Amino acid sequence: MNWEENEEQRKNEGQRKNEEQRNKEVYRKKEGYRVEEKRVVEEYRVQEYKEQEEELLSVEDLSVEIPLSEKTVYPVSGIRFSLKEGELAAIVGESGSGKSVAMKSILGLLPSGARRTAKKLSFKGKDLISLSEKEYYGIRGKEISMIFQDPMTALNPLMRIGEQISEVILRNRKEKMTKQEAKEEAIRLLSSVGITDAEKKYRQYPHEFSGGMRQRVLIAMALSCSPALLIADEPTTALDVTIQAQILKLLKEEARERNTAVILITHDLSLVFENAESLFVMYGGKIMEKGKVEEIFSTPAHPYTKALLAAIPSMEMEKGERLKPIEGNPPSLFEKPMRCPFLERCKERMPICEVELPKEQSLSKTHSFACHQKVEFK
Ligand code: SF4
Repeated sequence: MNWEENEEQRKNEGQRKNEEQRNKEVYRKKEGYRVEEKRVVEEYRVQEYKEQEEELLSVEDLSVEIPLSEKTVYPVSGIRFSLKEGELAAIVGESGSGKSVAMKSILGLLPSGARRTAKKLSFKGKDLISLSEKEYYGIRGKEISMIFQDPMTALNPLMRIGEQISEVILRNRKEKMTKQEAKEEAIRLLSSVGITDAEKKYRQYPHEFSGGMRQRVLIAMALSCSPALLIADEPTTALDVTIQAQILKLLKEEARERNTAVILITHDLSLVFENAESLFVMYGGKIMEKGKVEEIFSTPAHPYTKALLAAIPSMEMEKGERLKPIEGNPPSLFEKPMRCPFLERCKERMPICEVELPKEQSLSKTHSFACHQKVEFK
């Protein structure tokens, strides 16, 4: 290679490097704009939420699909609801209706491979759909907490009760705390949820606690950072009836004190009647009816809700009168619902129900149901 060719090659190399540098800068700028745009949109949404007093949680068209080796499960299909600050709502439905999966999907707690889609999923004006796992880490436990079903297994059997609460406080509290301060706070929390001799109990292990006491500990842990939203997944199922009432009363009082909104997942309508303000009735992965508790209990509109209410045993039942179960089985979740999921069990079905998915009809500002039946507006 002669000198001229060498010079030519050197120039080309220089040009290539310059071009590469320019491309990198363009990319960095574009990336910067994209991050900036995301930040501005996010700030705008949060500002809008503050100014308009928008709902704390707003869910539109939320669906979950879980691909298995051969088939796909559709546990949640296009649900829509919202929740205000400090509101106590309940979700009822039979096992497999999708209530737990729907709530876990809000927290981003789905099995790996599961797909979550939504037109809108915003919490305090923040878009949860676009959150990364790292960003979710900043919300879970701090802004949204969850109490799981079984207090017997939700605690670590090898750690002292107090250490488990202190650990949650140290990890999730916004303000910095020393270990001693976290311990004092844990003891205060144990007392506040009705555990006597809290200092001694702080040093005990879960096996030394009864089911009711363990559930009190879980409530203390879930509320330790005063989250804006608490999801309680059948928190009293494993407890006996007298303890159930105490635990729900405690949960309500503690949440009210912190202005924490609660979503209570349950299949027990009597618990809902006594404790919740609003109610979402789920079936086959869809919300069948929603509204204020008194609206739904006084004027249920959806045939499934009517059947659920009719199935509650009553003190006015005649001797020998039989309970009224809902006959038939829940729908398969291996198919996307293309028609009313309650069709097979509905006593009021019409020809249109066989071919068309019912749309949501409003009965009042707060009460609506998804059915082809026509009901007069209030
Ligand atoms: S849409 Fe039809 S099948 Fe479904 S609940 Fe209403 S009446 Fe029954």
